[in-house]
Amino acid sequence: MASATGLIDYVAESPSPYHCVEATLQRLEATGFDELDERSDWGVLAVGTKAFVRRSGTVLAFVVGQDAPARAGFRMVGAHTDSPNLRLKPAAEYESEGYRQCGVEVYGGILPYTWFDRDLGLSGRVTVRTDAGLESRLVRIDRPLARVTSLAIHLNRKVRTDGFKPNSQKELPPILGLHGEGPGALERLVTGALDIEFEQVLAWDLMLHDLQAPCLGGLDEEFVFAPRMDNQYSCYLALEALLAAEVGEATAVVALYDHEEVGSSSATGAAGALLENTLRRIEAGHETKAPGGFERAVASSFQISADMAHGVHPNYADRHDGNHKPRVNGGPVVKLNTQQRYATDGETAARFKNACHELEVPVQEFINRTDLACGSTIGPISSARLGIRTVDIGCAQLSMHSIRELAGAGDVSPTTQVFARLLGS
Ligand SMILES: [Zn+2]
Repeated sequence: MASATGLIDYVAESPSPYHCVEATLQRLEATGFDELDERSDWGVLAVGTKAFVRRSGTVLAFVVGQDAPARAGFRMVGAHTDSPNLRLKPAAEYESEGYRQCGVEVYGGILPYTWFDRDLGLSGRVTVRTDAGLESRLVRIDRPLARVTSLAIHLNRKVRTDGFKPNSQKELPPILGLHGEGPGALERLVTGALDIEFEQVLAWDLMLHDLQAPCLGGLDEEFVFAPRMDNQYSCYLALEALLAAEVGEATAVVALYDHEEVGSSSATGAAGALLENTLRRIEAGHETKAPGGFERAVASSFQISADMAHGVHPNYADRHDGNHKPRVNGGPVVKLNTQQRYATDGETAARFKNACHELEVPVQEFINRTDLACGSTIGPISSARLGIRTVDIGCAQLSMHSIRELAGAGDVSPTTQVFARLLGS
């Protein structure tokens, strides 16, 4: 069953999107889900089949429903595995003033100041040459080897009056050490961790992560203090809901995508073809046939796009609209934006709220202040691409896109129950 401590374990295992997919697969495989290779023939998909497809930082998992998708449709929950962070450039390492440093690129909308003076480890994926061809391997180095170091106040007194606006090229590259053994320190680190030869490393997708462990926090442990709550929190809830859902009439699908924080347009993102291709194959492979096929299935489908919501912050309460101030631990938040930055409309909101009412789960609503621009998420993208009716929801959190965020321990279980109800309906 979903719990705040289960969430903490999941996030601790997931410093990169690739690790988040791996943490998800381990839980799926432990409960009887089998991997399907995208390149293989899937044959007939019997009722109750539990399977998943993975591609890099994205995983789609499903439980085949009792009726043909053309009649019963799909019940889906979508979320994203990626979070804003700092990523290593390809030829990252350089020397400056006697220090070894590495060049970094900003991935997504980080809150830059939160990355300063944290102890940072390294994780991600390295593609290596082997006798059997090219292989991608996960790598994770959990020791404090990098630090984006701030400038002393004595050398930067104006920061107190002018604010802190770091230049990302000049001020974000972390310090890795002193001269050391010269160039190649990062490669040596990676080859040591993977037990391979220096020459085998061809390319990498590596990123930095905060080493402070996620934990419960607050007077009554009512909070989760952790990195990547946006959006591994929702990934965990979606996964646990799929594991808990009954096999319903409709086929249940959980889609956890990479690349939401940079717009979703990629081979693994929500704007790509992966979901549509997978749904088409499930529809075509279902043991029960019904005329009308995929297009008919889309018309009967319903999707929850789960991404975190902005809880009201006591020090900045004026940033919220008067009657739309979601609280942490106040239950899931239905997010609405008439400019379609969120895919919710009155009908999809009602369907979600109805499920909350049936389960006696409190439900909240969010709409931006009219004079503030609204963020967006995978909901409008996948709903526009496929034409599936969608509600955008999320649990309330603070410090979104900080290196360490604050979410509610009390929202985990009730929100998962609502997801499971809708997945099994
Ligand atoms: Zn998000």
